[in-house]
Parts: sequence; structure tokens; C-alpha cells
Amino acid sequence: MAEGKGAHGWAARDVSGHLSPCHFSRRVQRDDDDVTIKVLFCGLCHTNLHVIKNEFGNTMYLVVPGHEVIGVVTDVGRGVTKFKAGDTVRGLLCRLRG
Ligand SMILES: [Zn+2]
Repeated sequence: MAEGKGAHGWAARDVSGHLSPCHFSRRVQRDDDDVTIKVLFCGLCHTNLHVIKNEFGNTMYLVVPGHEVIGVVTDVGRGVTKFKAGDTVRGLLCRLRG
């Protein structure tokens, strides 16, 4: 399976609440409705704090918290009509897990 572009983030590795740098590969864009973005800014909300400390009981470490982002679209699938490369986007995304 092809490997995606390298990325870096700050990851929680256990319930301590401490974040440390991590490197990971992003998923390769593969679906017609995929939108790939470069994250420029990311906020942490209280949900992230619950996840970091496994307060919901389902955290799968390591976890890179932060799902409220502002970014720029870098690639879109063939079926995407609402966005194009270069668009600035903001919104809620799923957590990244490694
Ligand atoms: Zn949130």
C-alpha cells in the first residue's frame, strides 16, 4: 500500500496529559470524495482534553489532538465539486490516530 506524505504533530502517548512531537504518514488520497488539506492552524477544545486523558474510555494512543482546524485545500477527488485546490477551509475534522 502506498504511503502518504509525512506530517508532524504533537501527540499524547498515555493518560499523563503530556504532548510530545511525533511524525506520521498521512493517508493517501484515494476516494473520489476525498479532500486533502494542509492544516495551518488548529485549536484544542475540551473534548480533546477528555480524549488525551482517556476520560471517555476509548482513546487509542498515540493520539494527535485537535479537530478544529483552518487550512488550505491541496487536492480533491474527482467527485468533489464544492472545493478546489487553494481554497481556504475551516471546520471540524476527525481525530488523527496512529
Ligand atoms: Zn471540539
